[in-house]
Amino acid sequence: MFISFEGIDGSGKSTQARLLADRLRADGHDVILTREPGGSEGAEQIRNLVLNGPTDRWSPQTELLLFNAARRDHLERLIWPALEDGKIVVCDRFADSTRAYQGSTRGERRKLVDDLHNLMIGVEPDMTVLVDIDPNTGHSRATERNTGDDRFEGFGSDFQVTMRQAFLDMADASPNRFQVIDGDGTIDEVSDRIYAAVTQRLAQ
Ligand code: C5P
Repeated sequence: MFISFEGIDGSGKSTQARLLADRLRADGHDVILTREPGGSEGAEQIRNLVLNGPTDRWSPQTELLLFNAARRDHLERLIWPALEDGKIVVCDRFADSTRAYQGSTRGERRKLVDDLHNLMIGVEPDMTVLVDIDPNTGHSRATERNTGDDRFEGFGSDFQVTMRQAFLDMADASPNRFQVIDGDGTIDEVSDRIYAAVTQRLAQ
């Protein structure tokens, strides 16, 4: 089973992905916890190329190709082999992040994003946990944490509002795959909501 986590910066999705992996392991499942961009050696190298350096280092088209190159390597080296071995893969971000970040802000690129995905990736997670939070909460959490190493973090909250809506629209369009989780509350409360949703899906 392939589970992705999505959400705006500061939504808590990375913490929640780790907690879910821990809880599923405690239940006896074989779990791989991974992330995008990155997750394999080559993809982590591409992550550094994309996330660090000046904002205008890459054109939007080149950046999109780099995200897809990283995803393809991640699938080939880690995700597909793990799924073939019957493991649960918990992935912090996947193609929905590209649809949101590269597809909905920078002009009319969504078609290009979708075409490239169909051509080179072609898979979706079995389940996508969208950790949904108020953009102001996300913005202040992400800004507090921002180290300045990652040129994508700490975007203004207008941007977060747009990204949140992009994720919610995708969830509306694919209700069978998405599980929208209220990310407001303590870490344990949110973790309990996610665990309940995932174990219910695993039991189906
Ligand atoms: O999830 P994480 O914080 O590691 O993501 C790193 C940064 O890359 C985030 O700030 C996110 O906004 C950005 N990103 C992006 N496009 C993607 C994936 C991540 O702009 N496809």
